Amino acid sequence: MPVPRFEYYAPTTVSKAVGLLEQAGPEARVMAGGTDLLVKIRFRVIQPRALVGLKKIKGLNRISFSRKKGLTIGATALLADVAASSSVRRHYPGVAQAAGQTANVQVRNMGTVVGNLCNASPSADNAPTLLALGSQVRIAGPGSERVLALEDFFQGPGITALKPGEIVTSVNVPLPPPRSATAYLSLSARAKLDCSAVGVGVMLSLDDRDRCRDLRVFVGSCAPIPVRAKGAEQLLIGEKLTDRAVERAALEAARATQPIDDVRASADYRYKMVSVLTIRAIMDAKKRALRKKN
Ligand SMILES: Cc1cc2nc3c(=O)[nH]c(=O)nc-3n(C[C@H](O)[C@H](O)[C@H](O)COP(=O)(O)OP(=O)(O)OC[C@H]3O[C@@H](n4cnc5c(N)ncnc54)[C@H](O)[C@@H]3O)c2cc1C
Repeated sequence: MPVPRFEYYAPTTVSKAVGLLEQAGPEARVMAGGTDLLVKIRFRVIQPRALVGLKKIKGLNRISFSRKKGLTIGATALLADVAASSSVRRHYPGVAQAAGQTANVQVRNMGTVVGNLCNASPSADNAPTLLALGSQVRIAGPGSERVLALEDFFQGPGITALKPGEIVTSVNVPLPPPRSATAYLSLSARAKLDCSAVGVGVMLSLDDRDRCRDLRVFVGSCAPIPVRAKGAEQLLIGEKLTDRAVERAALEAARATQPIDDVRASADYRYKMVSVLTIRAIMDAKKRALRKKN
């Protein structure tokens, strides 16, 4: 099947990219790594007339960390680079874990974390942990810039809050609270060649008596957008993280989801695995947070 014809632009600044998108109209698409986009074009799921590539824009691939501003992952930072970054691994291990568990080595060397978010697949592996950390996306558009909570970014499968002509320039992750840790765990049938059937990202912080001071749990692949398991969080905040308490909360996490049967897994399996992964992710995060005591 031949690839349909399209114009390809490689602007060198964000404002030129925004200008090109505006000029080309609704049939233009932004391209970062192209690992999703080109497959969809090849199989004629979409037929854009123009692609605006971001990879020639200097500095957009930057991954930076400071204690004041937290972590910034630029729009063209590769999944592989985020997974390998020493500051991401040290301060945000769940973010590195999620990027390192996305797809396979070829896709991680082309695809980006921001492209994974903008693709807005319910199974996007990088969404749950970044949501749990309270991240924000920085968006450039015609004549303006805005910052949006990632929690408000996902609107449905393949649908985001981006308006015509807008580009996400980075995702910004606040500094996690003291004595906190993140974790991301996922399951897929064909060991990473397949999108996740279930993914759970958590951010946990402990108080000075090792009780749960704060917890955020997000589940991917089990609803049209990643869902927050608020009921599970509420059962544990202020409590000791005993096996029993965590198991109860994990059952509550499953209740927040609406899994479906599809080629990747049955709804029933997904529902059960939400609880299993929630227990493991909370316990992993607890272990990491406890190590930060001294
Ligand atoms: C074999 C294979 C395995 C895969 N496995 C997984 C997996 O295990 N887990 C998983 O989550 N995903 C998986 N994917 C999906 C995909 O590779 C990832 O979502 C990847 O992170 C997409 O990044 P990208 O830079 O290639 O995005 P692109 O393909 O360039 O773009 C994806 C979408 O986002 C839009 N977009 C990209 N960047 C921006 C931006 N800065 N601003 C506005 N819009 C933008 C594009 O217009 C497009 O609609 C897999 C894909 C393949 C082909």
